[in-house]
Amino acid sequence: MKEVALGIDIGGTNTVFGFIDREGHTLAESSISTKAHLDVRSYLKALHDKIQEIMSTLKTEVVLKGIGVGAPNGNYYKGTIENAPNLTWGKMVHFTDLLKDYYQVPIVLTNDANAAAIGEKIYGGAKSMSDFIVITLGTGLGSGIFVNGKVMYGHDGFAGELGHVTVNYNGRQCGCGRKGCLETYVSATGIKRTVYKLLADYTDPSVLRGISFDTLSAEMITKAAKEGDRIGIEAFEYTGKILGKKLADFVTFSSPEAIFLFGGLARAEEFIFRPTIQHMEENLMPVFRNKVKILPSSLMERNAAILGASALLWMELEK
Ligand SMILES: [Zn+2]
Repeated sequence: MKEVALGIDIGGTNTVFGFIDREGHTLAESSISTKAHLDVRSYLKALHDKIQEIMSTLKTEVVLKGIGVGAPNGNYYKGTIENAPNLTWGKMVHFTDLLKDYYQVPIVLTNDANAAAIGEKIYGGAKSMSDFIVITLGTGLGSGIFVNGKVMYGHDGFAGELGHVTVNYNGRQCGCGRKGCLETYVSATGIKRTVYKLLADYTDPSVLRGISFDTLSAEMITKAAKEGDRIGIEAFEYTGKILGKKLADFVTFSSPEAIFLFGGLARAEEFIFRPTIQHMEENLMPVFRNKVKILPSSLMERNAAILGASALLWMELEK
């Protein structure tokens, strides 16, 4: 009998899940639509049906040790999802309590960026580290912070919102209602805003001119930069400069051994890593210089969301 964790990652559009063993091997995975279910109870019924269907196709006999859930605005202490912007299930969803109607195993929930950090710790590049930070660069900027071998949750479960550290008090409007937050500059959406500003400020020809804001993607900007497009390269330079300066601040707080970058923008390789490292080092307090590694997440090309969620369960069981 093989011991497995069920990892579930809830996204605004789809929910993906998989059965993962302690070594990080995926036995099976599948998905259902999240947004097709306006009500959380109908969603849970559909999810349970699909999970049972996939479980019955497994070739190995398994023991389900528990369930880990990664969710937007997930609260580890309460097992709730609170005010998630892309979900329609109400302000406060008691998710783990509802899931317990279907499964009598340990169930743990946290936000998606914490899950990414736990995945890095259990299966990825941070196995031997006690102090590190994972920065997820998607539509916004998320962060999971390990201090002394543990995820930092804070007193209410919402610690580690580095995406909403202020870069400029008169800066870009943020979705959180404030101005100039880090994620308005450093995220897939942030770099699009930067490209549009550069296109307005400079007259250089660019393959990015003529692409509407809604069509423009971080992948297009990466491709342009790799092909030598000045606006594309400059957009990463600007993004890396702001990220590097803020990472220098974060280092003073928790003294991490490494900071891992995860998500679309990290695929731009040296276009984002070089300016980020340069500006972090230039702005670090001398005692921290040349000590902190900036690395790509080692889970990037794998089913990271499911791995992170299942790693949460393993970490809980090993406490
Ligand atoms: Zn904000």
